[in-house]
Amino acid sequence: MTDPISNATLAVWGGEDESLVQGATQVPVVYSAAYGYDSVDDWLEVALGSKPGHIYSRNTNPTVQVFEDKVRILEGAAAATSFATGMAAISNTLFTLLSPGDRVVSVKDTYGGTNKIFTEFLPRLRVEVDLCDTGDHAQIEAAVASGCRVLYLETPTNPTLKVLDLARLAAAGHAAGAIVVADNTFATPINQKPLQLGADLVVHSATKFLGGHADALGGVVCGDADLVRRIYHYREITGAMLDPMAAFLLIRGLKTLHLRIRQQNENALRIARWLQECPAVAAVYYPGLETHPHHDVARRQMSGFGGVLSFMLHGGFDAVKRVLPRLRFAHRAANLGAVETIVGTPATTSHVECTAEERAAMGIPEGLVRYSAGIEDADDLIADLTQALAAV
Ligand SMILES: *Cc1c(COP(=O)(O)O)cnc(C)c1O
Repeated sequence: MTDPISNATLAVWGGEDESLVQGATQVPVVYSAAYGYDSVDDWLEVALGSKPGHIYSRNTNPTVQVFEDKVRILEGAAAATSFATGMAAISNTLFTLLSPGDRVVSVKDTYGGTNKIFTEFLPRLRVEVDLCDTGDHAQIEAAVASGCRVLYLETPTNPTLKVLDLARLAAAGHAAGAIVVADNTFATPINQKPLQLGADLVVHSATKFLGGHADALGGVVCGDADLVRRIYHYREITGAMLDPMAAFLLIRGLKTLHLRIRQQNENALRIARWLQECPAVAAVYYPGLETHPHHDVARRQMSGFGGVLSFMLHGGFDAVKRVLPRLRFAHRAANLGAVETIVGTPATTSHVECTAEERAAMGIPEGLVRYSAGIEDADDLIADLTQALAAV
C-alpha cells in the first residue's frame, strides 16, 4: 500500500499519465470528428469496446477523456462522463435515471435550472416530483421513505448556502432503494467528497470552480460505474458532449483548483465575518459562520466552506442597485467560482428563470446579494466593500 496522494498532486497530475503526442508535456486539443483505422479488425475491437481507442467525437475524445479522468480521480469515483454544460450533465442524468411513473425527491432551492427540470419538464413525462423544504431533514427523510427512484441533493445550496447532511440523507435514500445524486458545484472535491459520504453520483457545473477562469462551459457526472455507463450511453445518443477546446481550458483550470479553493475559502470566511459586523447588512449566509444553522453539519462533512456567500442589505433591492455598481473589484455577472470576485442577485443569476413569486416560495429574498470571492487579496476586497456599502 502506498500513501494516498493528496488533492494538490492529483489536481496537477491526475489523468495525465497517457503518453501524449510526440512528447508534448501538455494535453493536446484533439479536433477530429472521427478516428481512422487501417485494420477493420482493430476498428471493430475499438467499436465494441474490447480495445481502448476512439471512434467518433460525439462518443469519446482524447482531450475530453483527460478532463473526465482528472475529475473522476479528484472525486474518488469509479467512472466519469462529461457534458457541454452543468445543466446538460444534470438533465441527462435525470432523464437517464427516471421513467414515467417514477418519483424523484429533492429540495426547493436547488439551482434555478435544475428546479425548472423538476417543475416544468419531468412532470410532462409523468415523473412525480416531491420538493422538500431544504433545511428540514426529517421532511426529506419522510418523503424518501414513501418510495423514490432518485434522491437529488445539492449542498451548499445556491444562493442561500443551506447545507444538507449528505451521509444522513444518502442512508435514507439507500434504505428506500433510491439512487442518490449530489450537485457538488459549490464545494468542489477539495472541500467535500459526496461519494465518500454515500452518494452514488456527483454532478458538477465545471463552468464554475472546476474551470475557475470563467472562459469555458462544461459539466461532469461521476460515481458508480454502471450508472455512469447508462448516463454516458444517453449522452452519446443525445449528443450533449463537451467540446475539446473547453476540455483543454478546464484541464488547465483544474491544475490550480486546490490553490484557488484554499484562497477562496479563506477570503469568503473573512468577508462573511466582516459583513456580519457591518451595520448596512441585515443578514449573512455562509456555512463557515458559527451562527449558520447548519454549521455543525458543514464542519463534519466539509474540509473548507467554499468561496460563495450571500448577504441581505438593509433597504432591499433598491440598496442592491446602489451598492453593486460601486464595487471596483467584482464583476456584476451571472456566474461564480472564477479567479475574479463576482457579485449577482438571484433575480439576475441563478434564479433568472423563476418569477418573483417562485423565488419567494423558494425562500429567496429579492434583496439578496450573492458574493463569489475570487483569489484577490482579502484586505483589498474588504476595503472595496467598505466604500461600496457606504452608499446604503
Ligand atoms: C451554474 C450551476 C449549474 C448549471 O451549470 P451550467 O454550466 O451553467 O449549465 C448547476 N448547479 C449549480 C449549483 C450551479 O451553480
